Amino acid sequence: MKIICIGRNYAAHAAELNNPIPETPLLFLKPDTAVLKDGKAFYHPNFSNDIHHEIEVVLRICKNGKSIEQEFAHKYYDQSTLGIDFTARDLQSKCKEQGHPWEIAKAFDNSAVLGEMMPLAELRNADGHVDFSLSKNGVQVQHGNTSQMLSNFDAIISYASKFFTLQVGDLIFTGTPAGVSQVKIGDVLEGFVGGRRLLYCEVK
Ligand code: ZN
Repeated sequence: MKIICIGRNYAAHAAELNNPIPETPLLFLKPDTAVLKDGKAFYHPNFSNDIHHEIEVVLRICKNGKSIEQEFAHKYYDQSTLGIDFTARDLQSKCKEQGHPWEIAKAFDNSAVLGEMMPLAELRNADGHVDFSLSKNGVQVQHGNTSQMLSNFDAIISYASKFFTLQVGDLIFTGTPAGVSQVKIGDVLEGFVGGRRLLYCEVK
């Protein structure tokens, strides 16, 4: 199982980090050892002093495929949840400055938090989009709607599958809206779709 993540897929988030909007989806991977699920606590690693939360809609691949055309892409995912793409922003900034790969900042153990998986159809509004948010200690800090994505689900699947064969069980983190911020020990993070809480994670 692999995790494919999309960077800078919401213009307001790209702007808050002073990043340009990419011309094609910006992809990176996390290994399966990054998964943290079932409401387990996230233990703050000591290699970073600036871990950020990034709430994202996550798709689960339900069919193997390669070089998938956009018009057929919807057949390749049916389950979804919210996830947190934990990012060691201090390490990432150093990697970016030096032009180095940023796996140590993005793909470390437990950096891919997963909420409760459910049928995507249940998470969509009448307009087909997913409206989601993240609260930190009971206060909403991020809010997004998939209508704001620069590359939609089908475009992401089509683009990613040119490079990586998608396999059943693979996960796609589809990018974070604005509002990312540092987490501290003791913080409680909760992800919501509408009024429904899908994700709970305590930082220890
Ligand atoms: Zn992210």
